[in-house]
Amino acid sequence: MDKTGKSTKRLTTARELNTVVLDYYLECARARHEGRPVGWMPPMNGAIEVFYAMDLQPVFPENWSPVCAAFGLAPDNFERSEKMGYSPDLCGYLRNIVGYVHGDMNGEGVPLGGLPEPDLLISFGGGCIPAMKIFQILEQRFPGAKVFSADLPQVAVEDIREHHVKYAVSEMERLIEFLTETTGHTMDYDRLKEVVEVSDRACELWDEIMSYRRYLPVPFSAAEIGIMFVMVTRQGTRTAVDFLTRMRDEVRERAEAGRGVIEDEKIRLFWDNIPLWYNMGLFNYFEKMGGVFVAETYSAAWSLRLDTRNPIEALARKSLMSYSLVSCLSIDRRREMVLKACRDYAIDGAVFHRNKSCVPITLGQADIQQALLSELGVPSVTIDACHMDARNFSLAQFQTRADAFMEMLLEKKRLKTDRTS
Ligand code: SF4
Repeated sequence: MDKTGKSTKRLTTARELNTVVLDYYLECARARHEGRPVGWMPPMNGAIEVFYAMDLQPVFPENWSPVCAAFGLAPDNFERSEKMGYSPDLCGYLRNIVGYVHGDMNGEGVPLGGLPEPDLLISFGGGCIPAMKIFQILEQRFPGAKVFSADLPQVAVEDIREHHVKYAVSEMERLIEFLTETTGHTMDYDRLKEVVEVSDRACELWDEIMSYRRYLPVPFSAAEIGIMFVMVTRQGTRTAVDFLTRMRDEVRERAEAGRGVIEDEKIRLFWDNIPLWYNMGLFNYFEKMGGVFVAETYSAAWSLRLDTRNPIEALARKSLMSYSLVSCLSIDRRREMVLKACRDYAIDGAVFHRNKSCVPITLGQADIQQALLSELGVPSVTIDACHMDARNFSLAQFQTRADAFMEMLLEKKRLKTDRTS
C-alpha cells in the first residue's frame, strides 16, 4: 500500500461515477463557452437549487479540492498557497483552492479541464470560518465577478428558531433578486418547485441507500462514498435521481442476496471525520483482516429532507442546517449522532481521523470516543492525518495502529463468541 492511492470499488454504479463527474465538469466548461453565467458557491445550501432553476451554472470550489487530491494536483497548490503566506495549519480545502486559483487554472495537466472562471461569487454563510474565508480570497482574485454575501448565522440545528428561518427566507429572496439583476435570468417558481421536489427525492433515495448498510454483510462500504459527488454538485437535477435510483437498485439487490463487500465480514467499522481524499484505499486496508467500513459521519450531511410545499422556506432551512449536520454542530449533538449510527449499523469499532486541518469536525472527538466505550462498549482508535494534505499522514503509523486495533477487535469478538456458544 502507498501513501496515496485509490479505493477498490465493488459496485457497478459507483464505477459509473467517473462519467457523472466528467459530464459535470464538461457542463461547467460549456456554460462559460455558451455565455451561461457561472457562479462559484460553497456546497450544502439552497443556492444550488436556485441556480439550476434559473438555468445558471453552479460550481463548487470546495468539491474541486478532493478532485485535485485524487489526481495528485494538491501538492503544487499547497506549495503555491504557502509561498503566498497561508499557513500549512489552515483548512486543506482553503489552501488548495488558493493555490489552484493563483496557478494556471486550465493548463495542461489540470484534470477535467479545470474550473471555468466565475461570473458570480456566492458566499452563503452558515458554514465554518474557512468556508467563508475562501470567498473573501476569491473576491480579491476575481475582481470582475459580481459578489453576493448572504451572511447566514451559524446556529446549531437544535437551536434554529423561526426568526432564523425568516431571515434565511429573506436572504434567499435577496439572492434571487440579485441573480435576476446581474444575469437577466428570471426565476420560474413552478420550475423551482420541480427542482426542489427532485432534490428532495435525491435525499430520500440517499437515505434508502444508506438503510441497506444495516444488512449483514454490508452491501457497500465507505470505499464507495465518492458517490456523494451527486449530492454536492447535482442536487435538484434528474442526473442525481437517476444515478441514485440505479445505485439503490444495485445495493438493494446485493443486500437481499446477502452479497457483502468481502466474503467473510468479521468486523463492522465506523469512520469519523472527512476521508483522506488522496488515499481512499485506506478504507480497503482493513478488509484483509475482515474489517469493513459500514458507516461514516460525513454521509449524514445528505439526509436533509425538504418540505416541497414551500420551496423557498425549504431551501432557507437547508441553508441553515446542512453544514450544521456535519461540521458546525455542538459536541453533544455530534456525540448523539455518532452513537446512534454505531447502534443502528451494529458497529464493532470506530476509527477517528484526527484531522489536522479541520478543527470543526475534530473538536470533541475524545469525548465522543469515551462515550462510545462507556455507553456502547465500542472501542476506537485515532489516526492522525489531514483530509487533503498527504504530508500530514504517516502510512507506517497508520498501519501499526490499524493492525493493532483490528487484532484487538477480533480477539474481543472471539471471546464474546466463546462466551455465548
Ligand atoms: S468544515 Fe473543515 S474541511 Fe470543511 S471547510 Fe470547514 S475547516 Fe475546511
